[in-house]
Amino acid sequence: MKITAIKTYPVWLGQLLVKVETDTEIYGWGEAGMPHRSRAVIGALQHFSDYLIGADPMRIGGLWQEMYRNQYFEGGRVLAAAIAGIDIALHDIVGKALGVPAYQLLGGSHRDYVPCFATTSAGSLDQLIEDVKLLLNNGWNAIRTWMARGRLDGQPLYEPRESIGLTAQWLTQLRQEIGPEPVIGIDYHHRLSVAEAASFCQRMPAGTLDFLEEPIRDETPEAYESLRTMIDVPLAIGEEFSSKWTFLPYIERGITNFVRLDVCNVGGLTEAMKIASMAESHYIDLMPHNPLGVICTAASAHLAAAVPNFAWLEIRDSPTEQLGHYSQELFPIQPQREGSHILVSDRPGIGVEVDEHLAAQRPLEIRKPGPLLRRRDGSLTNS
Ligand SMILES: [Mg+2]
Repeated sequence: MKITAIKTYPVWLGQLLVKVETDTEIYGWGEAGMPHRSRAVIGALQHFSDYLIGADPMRIGGLWQEMYRNQYFEGGRVLAAAIAGIDIALHDIVGKALGVPAYQLLGGSHRDYVPCFATTSAGSLDQLIEDVKLLLNNGWNAIRTWMARGRLDGQPLYEPRESIGLTAQWLTQLRQEIGPEPVIGIDYHHRLSVAEAASFCQRMPAGTLDFLEEPIRDETPEAYESLRTMIDVPLAIGEEFSSKWTFLPYIERGITNFVRLDVCNVGGLTEAMKIASMAESHYIDLMPHNPLGVICTAASAHLAAAVPNFAWLEIRDSPTEQLGHYSQELFPIQPQREGSHILVSDRPGIGVEVDEHLAAQRPLEIRKPGPLLRRRDGSLTNS
């Protein structure tokens, strides 16, 4: 079997779909990360096409090395996102060629279903309590929320000190309201300094939070180590990481307590499995980042099936959130979900089918970035 074409479809849902065709009737679908940088990722995929056309798609690991290390300047986020799109598609092709689901290629299944967590974007304490109770009543026992933020002159405003005081108060009251059992986490999206993150955690009683996701930026593991000494809340880090090497210090030094890898950012299933093994050896569970589409969800579900160390998969469709990312029209075959559980597909490959005609008809509109997130003094914070 030989690869004959690599096609890209940046679709209106904000997802960059990748199709790898072969000289047989078999083809594979993948998804590449960083859709807001899709022009750069598509460019990287075009570079890969130059030498992947004619290659044997069964050589998944060898082709991964060639994509990552060829041309000397190894890795980085753009290349890793592009590699992910190809790597997932190759798992789809090889699974179809062998007649087995992708998780079988990764070592076989560990579980009957994949537990997921839901998100609420409640903007007040009353709404937060109402949302969490709605989720709990519908069988979701792992729930994530966001920080309190405001608006100024119609534009998004984010002021750390105003946010941490209010958010800590909401979470403390939420925990009193729902009791000790439900899992509650919060994502601060890289918007705090070390001092602000420490003050935030210190304003809540121990046991309020089960995880704090990405409170500060992650370029410097030593900054997280400093924060680690000041707080007792488990950390969930890694959604932007682009290889096992970026995860290495966070896992080896015990900085993160959940691995937030994104299979579409980190270089696909090949790299995700290696990171999962590193995490397993440190008794750290995966909590994959999954804000994209059906293919990322399906690939993440196969990963979840194939590893022993798994907590929850992010899913962006629940009683409190309907982002419309999982279009049945575009993806007529996709992973089935029962409440907060994803059922892992037994179809050969990753178990997704795409309406390619529709994907070509409704491209992602490349537009200017959305409104920047400002502080009260006008300075920038992470969006
Ligand atoms: Mg996050």
